[in-house]
Amino acid sequence: MNAMTQTSSRFQQGLTRLLQSRVADILSYPHGVDRYLEVFNPLWSVNEVRAKVEAVRYLTNDSVTLTLRPNHNWEGFIPGQFVQLSVTINGKRQTRCYSPANSLHRADGCIELTAKVHANGFVSRHLREQLSVGDVVLLSQADGEFALPEQRPEQVLLISGGSGITPVMSMLRTLCDEGFSGPITFLHYANSAADMIYASELDEIARTHDNVTLVRCFNDEGEQGELSGLFSREHLYIAAPEFAQATTFLCGPPPMMAAVE
Ligand SMILES: Cc1cc2nc3c(=O)[nH]c(=O)nc-3n(C[C@H](O)[C@H](O)[C@H](O)COP(=O)(O)OP(=O)(O)OC[C@H]3O[C@@H](n4cnc5c(N)ncnc54)[C@H](O)[C@@H]3O)c2cc1C
Repeated sequence: MNAMTQTSSRFQQGLTRLLQSRVADILSYPHGVDRYLEVFNPLWSVNEVRAKVEAVRYLTNDSVTLTLRPNHNWEGFIPGQFVQLSVTINGKRQTRCYSPANSLHRADGCIELTAKVHANGFVSRHLREQLSVGDVVLLSQADGEFALPEQRPEQVLLISGGSGITPVMSMLRTLCDEGFSGPITFLHYANSAADMIYASELDEIARTHDNVTLVRCFNDEGEQGELSGLFSREHLYIAAPEFAQATTFLCGPPPMMAAVE
C-alpha cells in the first residue's frame, strides 16, 4: 500500500467512525445518516449493503440474472448461502431471499443472483420487468447453514430442481475455479431444456472438466435429457451410483427435497 492509499484509507475509516457515532445519530434524527448520504449517492451507506445493478441477463423466458456490485459494507458469502434482496415497489419495500450463484473466486467483486419468475410473483416479476442497469437494490449480509464446507469433500453430488439451481451452481463454479479434482455429479430437474437456467454454461463446464458429470432430467414429455420424470431412487443409481461416498447438496421445491431425502 503506498502513502497516498494509506492516507485515503485512514480518512475513510475516520469518516466511517464519525458517521457511525452517537453525535451523527443525534444530528440526523429522525431519518438516520443513511437517508442523508443517499441524496449524494444511492450506494453510500454507513451500515446497509446496497448494490448497483451492473448487468441484467435473461437466460430463460421466465428468469432474470442480475450482476450486482455491492458497496463496502458487503462481507462476502459462502457458496450455498442466501441474501435478502429488497426493492421498493409502489413506495413499499419488498424483501425476498435469493442465493448468489457466482463463484466465491469471482474476480470483479460482483455477485450474481438469478430469480425464476413466478406467474403471480410480486418481486420476481418486478426484477425481470422493471430492474435495469444502474438501479440500486438493498441486500442483507449472507446467511444460512446450507454451505460448502471449508474443508472440501472428496466427492460431491449436487441435486437441484428449478430455481434451486442457484446455490449449487455457486458450489460448482467455486470448486471448478479451485481446480477441485474429485468427482462431481450435477443432477438437475427442470420442465424442459428451454426452462433450464445456466444450461449452456453447465454444458461447457461438463465438456471441459473430466471430473464433472452433468445429468439433466426433464419432466415435459418429448424432452431429451439424460433422464426424465420426477426424482426416483432409480435416478440416483443411474446418475450417481457411488452416491453413498459423496457429500450431497440438495436444493429445490419442497416435494422434490422430500423425495430425495
Ligand atoms: C433461502 C432461500 C433462497 C432462495 N433463493 C432463490 C433463488 O436463488 N432464485 C429464485 O428464483 N428464488 C429463490 N428463492 C425464492 C424467492 O425468495 C421468492 O420466494 C420467489 O422469487 C417468489 O417471490 P415473488 O415475490 O415473485 O412471489 P410472491 O409474490 O411472494 O408469491 C409467491 C408465490 O405465490 C404465488 N401467488 C402470488 N399471488 C397469488 C395469488 N393471488 N393466487 C395464487 N398464487 C399466487 C406466486 O405465483 C408465487 O408462486 C429463495 C427462497 C429462499 C427461502
